[in-house]
Amino acid sequence: MKKTIYIIGSGFSSLSAACYLAKAGNDVIVLEKNNTVGGRARQYKNQGFTFDIGPTWYWMPDVFERFFGEFGKKPSDFYELEKLNPGYQVYFSELESILISGNLYEIYEVFEKEEPGSSIHLKEFLSAAKYNYDVAINDLVYKPGVSPLELITPVTIKKVHQFFTTIRKQVRKKIKNKKLLQILEFPVLFLGAKPSNTPAFYNFMNHADFGLGTWHPKGGMYMVVEAMKSLAVSLGVQFETATTVQEICVDATGTTIGVIANGNYRASDIVVSGADYHHSETLLPTKYRQYSEKYWNKKIFAPSSLLFYVGFDKKLENVSHHTLFFDTDFDVHAQAIYDTPKWPEKPLFYASFPSITDNSFAPKGKEAATFLIPLAPGLEDTEELREKYFNIIIERLEKLTNQEVKSSVIFKKSYCVNDFIKDYNSYKGNAYGLANILTQTAFLRPNIKSKKVKNLFFTGQLTVPGPGVPPSLISGKIVSDLIIKSYK
Ligand SMILES: Cc1cc2nc3c(=O)[nH]c(=O)nc-3n(C[C@H](O)[C@H](O)[C@H](O)COP(=O)(O)OP(=O)(O)OC[C@H]3O[C@@H](n4cnc5c(N)ncnc54)[C@H](O)[C@@H]3O)c2cc1C
Repeated sequence: MKKTIYIIGSGFSSLSAACYLAKAGNDVIVLEKNNTVGGRARQYKNQGFTFDIGPTWYWMPDVFERFFGEFGKKPSDFYELEKLNPGYQVYFSELESILISGNLYEIYEVFEKEEPGSSIHLKEFLSAAKYNYDVAINDLVYKPGVSPLELITPVTIKKVHQFFTTIRKQVRKKIKNKKLLQILEFPVLFLGAKPSNTPAFYNFMNHADFGLGTWHPKGGMYMVVEAMKSLAVSLGVQFETATTVQEICVDATGTTIGVIANGNYRASDIVVSGADYHHSETLLPTKYRQYSEKYWNKKIFAPSSLLFYVGFDKKLENVSHHTLFFDTDFDVHAQAIYDTPKWPEKPLFYASFPSITDNSFAPKGKEAATFLIPLAPGLEDTEELREKYFNIIIERLEKLTNQEVKSSVIFKKSYCVNDFIKDYNSYKGNAYGLANILTQTAFLRPNIKSKKVKNLFFTGQLTVPGPGVPPSLISGKIVSDLIIKSYK
C-alpha cells in the first residue's frame, strides 16, 4: 500500500533510498537542512574553481552501475566516467614517489622493481582479494544486518579465519618492502580504521583499488549527486532544502507519526533518517532512543579531517590527480587518531588536483587542489591550528615535489571538525561515520530499523554496511528493501 515517507537528509544513502522507495510507489519527501543536496558530497565554487567538498575517489564502479541499472539506467546516461591513469601517486620522500597505474600489469612491474619476487605474491593476494570482493558483493554487503546468520553461508564459513587476523598481518606475510606495504594498506583506510584493526577479509578493498581501478566522473563526484537527484525527481521524489528536522514524532503506541521540520508538524507513515545516526536519535524523546551516550562514546569512529580547498594561480608539477603524501610515520599518525587523540605532529596527508585531468575544475593555466589530513574526531578546532597545519603541508608539498607554490595561492578555504558538526550534525565531527572493524560489522552496527519506534528506519554510513559512497548507495537499497518487504 502506498505510504507517505519522510527521509531526513540528502546524502548518498538518502538519495538512494528515495529512488527505491519512490519506484515502489510511495510518496517520498526528502528534508535537507542545508541549501543544497548531497550531504558530505556537496560542491564549493569560487573564482572559477570547483571543488568536491567531500568524496573525491570514485571506486567500485560496479556498485554505481548496479544502482542505476535497477532503474533501467546507466551511469553514462548522467555523467561521463574516465578511468584514471595513473590511478594515483604516493610520495615517500623528496621526489621519491610511486605511480599506481590504471593497468594491473604495470602495477606488477612496479612491485617487481621495488622488491624482486613481490609481483608473484601480489598476484596471489589479488586473486584472494577478488574472491573476497565477489563474496562481499554477492553474499554480504546487501544484507540488512539484523541477524548474525546473514553472515553464515557455505562460502563465508570457509573464510571465517580471515575475520580473526588483520589486513596488516596478511600483507606482511610475504612482502617486506615498506613502501609496497604502505600502498597495500592504504585501501582499507577508506573503511575508517587502522589496518592493524581491520579484518583480513577486507582485502577486497585491494581488488577495488588495483583490480577495478580509480575513476573520475567528469565534473566531479557532485555529478553523481546530481544524477541521483534527477533520477529521484523523475520517480516523483520531492526535495525540500533549508529544512531542518527538529523532532521525530512518536505517538502513545510507540509508532512514528511524522516529523517537526522548521517548526511545522508534517505527518507521515514512515520516517527514514539518513542523517548521522547519533543525531537522528537525539530527535526522539529519550525513552525511544536505542543507544546511550556511553554507547556512542565507546564506538570507534572513522576519522574527522582538516581540509583545504585551494585555488592556485599556476599548474603544479610532479603531482597526479590523486596524490598521497606518506613520507612520515603512518603508525605515529594513526596513534594520534585512534589511541591518544591529538593533532598529529607529522601528519600524512592526501591531495587531489582534479584540474590535472578535468579542465572544468579550474580556469585555464590554474590548478584546483583539495588537501586532507585525517584527524581524531572531537579534537579542538581553531583558526590558529588550521593555519599552522596549512603551512606544514604546503611546506612539505613544496619540498617533496620540488617547487614553490605558496606565493601562487589565490585563495584557500578550510573545513574541519566544527564544520562537520555545524553542517551535518556529525557526532564529534566525524567525516566518514563508524569504522568497519570486526566488532562494528554487519549485525554489530547500529540497527537499520529502530527496535523502539515502529515505522522508523535509519540509513547511511553509521549503519550497514559502512562508510564510503558505494556503501551509502547500498545502505539506501537495504533500508528500502526492508521497508518494501515490511509493508507489502
Ligand atoms: C572529506 C571526505 C572525504 C571522503 N572521501 C571519500 C571518497 O573519496 N570516496 C568515497 O567513496 N567516500 C568518501 N567519503 C565518505 C562518503 O562521502 C560518505 O560515506 C557518504 O557521503 C555518506 O553519505 P550519508 O548518506 O551516510 O550521509 P551524509 O552525506 O552525511 O548525509 C546526511 C545528510 O543529513 C543532513 N542532516 C543532518 N541533520 C539533519 C536534520 N536534523 N534535518 C535535515 N537534514 C539533516 C545533513 O545535512 C546531510 O546532508 C568521504 C567523506 C568525507 C567527509
